[in-house]
Amino acid sequence: MARYTGPVCRLCRREGMKLFLKGDRCFTEKCAIEKRNYAPGQHGKGARVKSKLQGYGLQLREKQKAKRLYRLMEGQFALTFDRATQEKGVSGELLLQKLERRLDSVVYRLGFGSSRDQARQLVRHGHVRVNDRKLNIPSFQVRRGDVIGLGPRAAKNALVLQSVEAVKGRGVPKWLELDATAMKGKVLAMPARDDVNFPIQEQLIVELYSK
Ligand code: SF4
Repeated sequence: MARYTGPVCRLCRREGMKLFLKGDRCFTEKCAIEKRNYAPGQHGKGARVKSKLQGYGLQLREKQKAKRLYRLMEGQFALTFDRATQEKGVSGELLLQKLERRLDSVVYRLGFGSSRDQARQLVRHGHVRVNDRKLNIPSFQVRRGDVIGLGPRAAKNALVLQSVEAVKGRGVPKWLELDATAMKGKVLAMPARDDVNFPIQEQLIVELYSK
């Protein structure tokens, strides 16, 4: 599957905010947003600031931000939106719910991976169990009651343990429950809109795709 392999801090700088794509580094002063909070590239400093954007430009930036936050390519993101529109409810909120319910995102939220990239790698490499069965599909949608765990090797991995320690301090979203001793997490409910603690204006994304 295609994926973006370029420097991720560029993506944050383009969106003008922290997207937390690099794990622990994002919480330190080494973060590129702390040091150079302007768009990347030769003309980055003079780039049009977001507050001056409107219409299509604003909608596009919002879509790009969400897509980059969840580390998806255009096709995967558009497909997720399509599926959200096929369900009953508010399309924008369903889109965010579907993004949050992805297995790689849940593994990240539970702290098994310090970034979504790392979480996706854990899934892809077969280290993640859903209801005690190995599952290596990052886009798998978790459901209420699912138990997400790790294989024996990953559960003892120093990086994973360090990442879980860090998330214990920050906390997991209320729709998930983490048992750090057993290295397992449970889906208590479907994520609500206020569980997406990131400034995304999903309505702009809906407007963009509805053109
Ligand atoms: Fe974004 Fe993290 Fe890089 Fe900061 S360190 S710019 S938050 S990816």
